[in-house]
Amino acid sequence: MTARDAAELRTVCEAMRSEALVALAIHESPDSDAVGAASGMLELFAALGIEATLAVDPGVELPFAAEFLPAERVVEGPPLPGAALYALDCGSAARLALTLGDGRRRVVNIDHHHDNTRFGDLNYVDGAASSTSEIVCEIAALLGLRFSPRAASALYAGISFDTGHFQHASTSAGTFAACARLVADGADPNEVYRLLYETRSLASLRLWARAIGRARPAAAGRALLTLLTADDFGDTGASDDETEGIVDALRGVPGVEVAALARPRGDGQVRVSLRSEGFDVSAVAGLKGGGGHRQAAGFTTAGTVEGVTEWLSTVLDERLSTASS
Ligand code: 5GP
Ligand code: MN
Repeated sequence: MTARDAAELRTVCEAMRSEALVALAIHESPDSDAVGAASGMLELFAALGIEATLAVDPGVELPFAAEFLPAERVVEGPPLPGAALYALDCGSAARLALTLGDGRRRVVNIDHHHDNTRFGDLNYVDGAASSTSEIVCEIAALLGLRFSPRAASALYAGISFDTGHFQHASTSAGTFAACARLVADGADPNEVYRLLYETRSLASLRLWARAIGRARPAAAGRALLTLLTADDFGDTGASDDETEGIVDALRGVPGVEVAALARPRGDGQVRVSLRSEGFDVSAVAGLKGGGGHRQAAGFTTAGTVEGVTEWLSTVLDERLSTASS
């Protein structure tokens, strides 16, 4: 965190202290970072004596909600009138897993996506932070507050998830300092590892086999692309969240700079996950209205999985041939 970041983060702390009523919001298809950040912020507001809930649209699935979130603080539906909205881990207002009711409300935007659209009235965007969970740890430190074991484990899980378990380039000394504080607060690294990485169903393994078996090189081997069809999900019984990790496995093949996984989303749209080593995949995702990080990005678009994969193959052929390796 730079000195300017620290000053900006103090402004966020002041804003938090001044709230009367707060609704937290996270991105659609919430991941462990979004859940961890929300769990942490719920505790910080509680410690400040401020009423806060996590607001999501009905039916939004929250990973590890039973382990990491206080059920009584999670509400489905639009936030109460007058509640300030704290958007967490959300690159743009369009990505919120929440339909906002009528009426203008103040929005505080706390995130680590470098392409964040700064849609808040107050924005704290640290593109160098490993995760929004790490930013929430920095806020806690500035406020002089600690976490319960549940929130500490949730935040640790958020950091672990977004860093690929401390592997990505975003993993810094600050990341480990935050984790050290979380473990001191009662976070359980062993349990988080078991929950996030050691639990894989047979259905999921069968889905992985199909995706990996179908992987095809593009851009003279510098990209590896694969797709899953509705039949793959139907035959194996696996769900979309069980695709987590497939694209990272493809990226790990020596010589592969960009990996992609396309799969149907159920509503006729195709969802694509992109991973890279160095090459900016958020720019490619941006061509179809998506975004994310340079090394991990995604988009959702109309079309067929085959058609979208073909399009990606063409774009990567062009872009990787002009990019330096
Ligand atoms: P994943 O492939 O794990 O779904 O997403 C990787 C990264 O890209 C995440 O940080 C996520 O926030 C971002 N991302 C995925 N899909 C979209 C999208 O449609 N729009 C934007 N702006 N970011 C996305
Ligand atoms: Mn994140």
